[in-house]
Amino acid sequence: MTTADTLDARPTALPDVPSTMLIGGTWSPAADGRTFAVENPATGEELAVIADGGQADAARAIEAAAAAQEQWARTAPRARSEILRRAFDLVLERRDRLARIMTAEMGKPLTEAKGEVTYAAEFLRWFSEEAVRISGDHTTTGDGTNRIIVTREPVGPCILITPWNFPLAMGARKIAPALAAGCTVVLKPAEQTPLTTLALAAIMEEAGVPAGVLNVVTTTDAPTVVTAWMRSGKARKISFTGSTEVGKILLRQAADTVMRTSMELGGNAPFIVCADADIDIAVEGAMVAKMRNMGEACTAANRMYVHRDIAGEFSERLARRMSALQVGNGLDDGIEVGPLIDGDGRGKVQRLVDDAVARGARTLTGGVLPDGPGYFYPPTVLTEVPVDADLMQTEIFGPVAPVIPFTDEDEIVRIANDTDWGLVGYVFTRDVDRAFDLSERLEVGMVGVNTGLVSNPAAPFGGVKQSGLGREGGKIGIDEFLEYKYLAVPRRRGA
Ligand code: ADP
Repeated sequence: MTTADTLDARPTALPDVPSTMLIGGTWSPAADGRTFAVENPATGEELAVIADGGQADAARAIEAAAAAQEQWARTAPRARSEILRRAFDLVLERRDRLARIMTAEMGKPLTEAKGEVTYAAEFLRWFSEEAVRISGDHTTTGDGTNRIIVTREPVGPCILITPWNFPLAMGARKIAPALAAGCTVVLKPAEQTPLTTLALAAIMEEAGVPAGVLNVVTTTDAPTVVTAWMRSGKARKISFTGSTEVGKILLRQAADTVMRTSMELGGNAPFIVCADADIDIAVEGAMVAKMRNMGEACTAANRMYVHRDIAGEFSERLARRMSALQVGNGLDDGIEVGPLIDGDGRGKVQRLVDDAVARGARTLTGGVLPDGPGYFYPPTVLTEVPVDADLMQTEIFGPVAPVIPFTDEDEIVRIANDTDWGLVGYVFTRDVDRAFDLSERLEVGMVGVNTGLVSNPAAPFGGVKQSGLGREGGKIGIDEFLEYKYLAVPRRRGA
């Protein structure tokens, strides 16, 4: 196939994705007419040119959200539920198209993109079910004089900020609970992956979301747009997924208006394989925990602590599996590993690997930048990684598995917890008591026990320490978007 044929066979210019922003129910260009290009990280090709929103657009969006809030909060829960349910159906119906958009702008292989479409759709279904189950409480004061009636109300207009690594799932994971709770939203996707969000917004609109309830501003100037929202005096809540560094900026800004926050920030996941672990299961778990999304996930196993008795065999088997993976343009058949998101992301991965090797780590596979276009990085396994290597304290966000042999379990728990982060940990052992013991001692919000995958719409996702505040998904996911209100009603006995 020639290059031209290949392009014809899989057009990566995406003419059917909106190129403008959804504000107050109208698809609008930027007020000042600015635009920016979205590129395919596998090829550098321009995929689309879209609106580059600024302060004026941000102001219009939050005003639209504030104006729609009262009516949306009053909309019957069943009506909100059915809109989300229709969105679930539509997202699944458009699975292939959404997956292609996501792969084109973000790089992940099509099979993974399709998996993400299903995962994202499940948030819409889950919260369509939760919308009609928002409950309160009714009791009496201790002395029996007052009724205590506790109700739940939507917190109000919300700011949603999403990252580029799971563009559809992170959008759905925030939009669905917010809308289910009766909140209107302004959403800013990452500048690298706005097309998936625009496509999702068009689907939400088609599903029946009223004007002003969901507003999307695309921009290359995140600080200006988000600061305008934070200072608007109209937003009541911010839900952010991204780096700890930006999360801290937003927490400081939130303090000015005492705004409620949900923060899904970085991770530095320990992956502990005990001497008694089933090595097949541990290697399989490592492949998932490390290679899902090319390692560009906050849940990615960042440090693999493997008991010295089995570290050699584990590392060799992992290296064999990793080196057999097909790396390439995610839109092509059979590709299992796509490019990293951009040059900065890839440069960071290379620096971390070089540092570990300079300090004595051994490279079992990978570690060398390929020639050619695209931000590709080879699946890499490092062994005998010293604990003072930079990648022990840095989120790698790439397909690099550092293996660190250990002998003493207590010591490894101490080292695993010796980090500012606490999102997820993984434990592999055949011993039930050991599994519970290690899970309880890890300072994290989630633990995978003999599995490399914890994310699920029915489970509360989130971290402790500097990995964040609040939980997304599960029974408690909707709580992030609800306030309690208590009514004191005297009992007039005999009246
Ligand atoms: P990453 O390093 O993974 O790109 P970021 O935290 O930089 O993570 O990005 C996550 C989201 O935060 C993106 O939508 C990005 O545009 C946005 N963002 C980046 N800087 C700021 C900022 N100063 N204020 C608000 N949002 C920001």
